[in-house]
Amino acid sequence: MDAALVTVGDELLAGDTENTNATWLARELSERGVDVRRVLTVPDVAAEIADAVREYAGRYDAVIVTGGLGGTPDDLTMDAVATAFDLPLEPNDLARADLERTLEAIAGDYPELDVDIEAEASLPAGARPLINDAGLSPGAVVENVYVLPGIPGEMQHMFEAVADEFAGDVESRLLYTEEPEANLIERLDSVRHRFGVEVGCYPDREAGHNRLKLRSDDPDALAEAFEWLRAAVDLVEPDA
Ligand code: ATP
Repeated sequence: MDAALVTVGDELLAGDTENTNATWLARELSERGVDVRRVLTVPDVAAEIADAVREYAGRYDAVIVTGGLGGTPDDLTMDAVATAFDLPLEPNDLARADLERTLEAIAGDYPELDVDIEAEASLPAGARPLINDAGLSPGAVVENVYVLPGIPGEMQHMFEAVADEFAGDVESRLLYTEEPEANLIERLDSVRHRFGVEVGCYPDREAGHNRLKLRSDDPDALAEAFEWLRAAVDLVEPDA
């Protein structure tokens, strides 16, 4: 299974907000063996969100979009996802019922809260609603596109509810060495060609070592590549 991430928000492009959603989701998906092929950040512009969703939905097994839900004028994501699939937006009964329940529960704490329930509970027609246990705006699944909120806690909670739908065969193994990167080039090329695995070399200046990462969807090839590289390189133990 491969996947793409689309994070929505002008504040991400301006550097005002660190894109922790992308990192968190990429790690979660990778740990489940999913091959994450793209991470894209788009501005709060409906046409640009729709273009990215349409393109990636056609190219990857799954697309996760975060941010831009809710009722403010810069919240355009649901609209854009509906456009991408040529669907109308319509109030979803389940999302509306959940929203009403949440609003009732928090009415004491937020007596002034003025939520446009119809707008907030509107999803692309036929979408599977994703209930927001940690906030207000519902998410949705439209075909292979998962739409999650931007607020990290809400996004993580909602992802957990669908996490089982993401699974793949890509595994990785790590090795650590203090040998200089330049000296490793031939051996890294060899391991890639011999075993058909992906190999990355990531210097960690603070720790004073290079992290070597082998990746493959073939467990035998990965195991053989790991053993070969382990014998070919002077290894160190990473600090705990
Ligand atoms: P809600 O509808 O629950 O308010 P939302 O989907 O409308 O959420 P946004 O309005 O896009 O989310 O963003 C709300 C806040 O969430 C941002 O101000 C930012 O603090 C945080 N946020 C959004 N996207 C990301 C991201 N990719 N990584 C980390 N934080 C993010």
